[in-house]
Amino acid sequence: MTNMQTPHAQTADHQALLRGTPTQLFVNGEFVDAQAGATFDVVNPATGEVLCSVADASPADGRTALDAAVAAQADFAATTPLQRHRILLRAFELLMERQDELGLLMTLEMGKPLAEAKGEIAYAAEFFRHFAGEALRIDGGFQSSPQGGARFLITKQPVGPCLLITPWNFPMAMGTRKLGPALAAGCTSVLKPAHQTPLSMLALAQILQEAGVPDGVVNIIPAMDAGAVMEPLIRSGEARKLSFTGSTKVGKVLLEQCAEKVLRTSMELGGNAPFLVFEDADLDEAVAGCMQAKMRNMGEACTSANRIYVHSSLIDDFGARLAKRMGDLTVGDGALEGSQVGPLIDEAAQSKVDGLVRDARDHGARVLVGGDVPEGEGYFYPPTVLQGVAREARMQAEEIFGPVAALTPFDTEDEAVEAANDTRFGLVAYVFTNDLRRAIRVAERIEAGMIGLNQGVVSNPYAPFGGMKESGLGREGGSVGIEEFLETKYIGIAMG
Ligand code: NAP
Repeated sequence: MTNMQTPHAQTADHQALLRGTPTQLFVNGEFVDAQAGATFDVVNPATGEVLCSVADASPADGRTALDAAVAAQADFAATTPLQRHRILLRAFELLMERQDELGLLMTLEMGKPLAEAKGEIAYAAEFFRHFAGEALRIDGGFQSSPQGGARFLITKQPVGPCLLITPWNFPMAMGTRKLGPALAAGCTSVLKPAHQTPLSMLALAQILQEAGVPDGVVNIIPAMDAGAVMEPLIRSGEARKLSFTGSTKVGKVLLEQCAEKVLRTSMELGGNAPFLVFEDADLDEAVAGCMQAKMRNMGEACTSANRIYVHSSLIDDFGARLAKRMGDLTVGDGALEGSQVGPLIDEAAQSKVDGLVRDARDHGARVLVGGDVPEGEGYFYPPTVLQGVAREARMQAEEIFGPVAALTPFDTEDEAVEAANDTRFGLVAYVFTNDLRRAIRVAERIEAGMIGLNQGVVSNPYAPFGGMKESGLGREGGSVGIEEFLETKYIGIAMG
């Protein structure tokens, strides 16, 4: 039985917040209408209500935005690291000062519960604080040529204007994870947020302006037809880099487009995370870790535990405990006090999750809790635990992107590792065991860019985030994150 709260209509507070949020494109330091005057609606996924209309960029608006970024590049590259450091630190402070209202704005457009949305604002802000520091640490090198007669001077320079494309599931953090290093490195940019969640990035534009980002350095262009707007910008070659977070399917299309002018690329793509619980794991810790790895963002995270493999001696106990905790969660409008699980992003997401669950049941999975789309408005799906999910079930190969835990038993370590690696993705994996040797052995054998060892969350601005295989190219965050926005230049100096 799912605990459901009834969604409610917008309050006066929500309306005031929305009235104060920019809804125009942010181009060359100004909020402007789309040139053709087009707009699109932003919908609250908890209620299906239209929150507001936002300017809808056309290819011509994209061109104007890129022109602004190109024009601003040389001056911005010439700013000192300390100037860029101060801008980023100020933006960090402003984000934290406005954490509550920005959190609510995110909940309204994306659906996640208010506490999680505020947590994301803090996480997003931390990228700015981190990269404020990295701006001061851009380094180089000097050495004597080993053959003699010359010196090597190695310097780093900004790659140039960047195109940044972000998804809807972390509307603020996926933006700051790109803008932080771009600004720190001295790159200008044009950012296109997902059409479902443009408001967080537009609110951020206001903050960046207040923090002292010069005109044209950051441009934000919400658009309904992402492909039509972005493809000519990518193919123009005037931007020198594309940083994309989204699905592997779209990432592959963009990689092809980038090939034409050989743009630098960073690709944070889809995941299909395995979650392994060995017979020597601490069961309480494993269940708690699974709740985090599964339920963060209602399961709508690239890092979500998608395939949960539990040693056959533990699986009944693990399944019962997980089902109890999942069933105890309160589902409802994220803006309502007490809601722990918000709606999915839209109707398509809700019916996709429903289809995957039906398919797993048809392949013999047992429903321990949840499993049915609730009646009423909003795109809700109940926390669900399925036990005995067959390898042939579609959810073993596809991202579920919803609050559904798919449990499958295993007997040996080899079997678990083979199952974990049996995917074209390689973003993250979770391993629960108290045997140190096994922990290291398994972590080394798993083909993923990140491993959570006895922990259910790996995301941290100070650590390198990214995947192997079809989960992407490059890393964001950590000390390597800024390198993605820097070119290394070698100057050979004759000394003879
Ligand atoms: P998506 O459909 O690939 O969209 C991502 C972004 O790309 C959106 O801004 C979208 O714009 C834009 N887009 C779509 N088609 C495009 C095209 N032809 N040209 C240029 N831009 C285009 O993914 P999503 O459904 O929003 O996000 C979920 C996916 O992101 C999942 O696969 C998840 O695993 C992945 N993700 C990965 C990470 C990571 O760090 N690895 C983090 C978060 C999410 P519109 O929405 O306006 O069409």
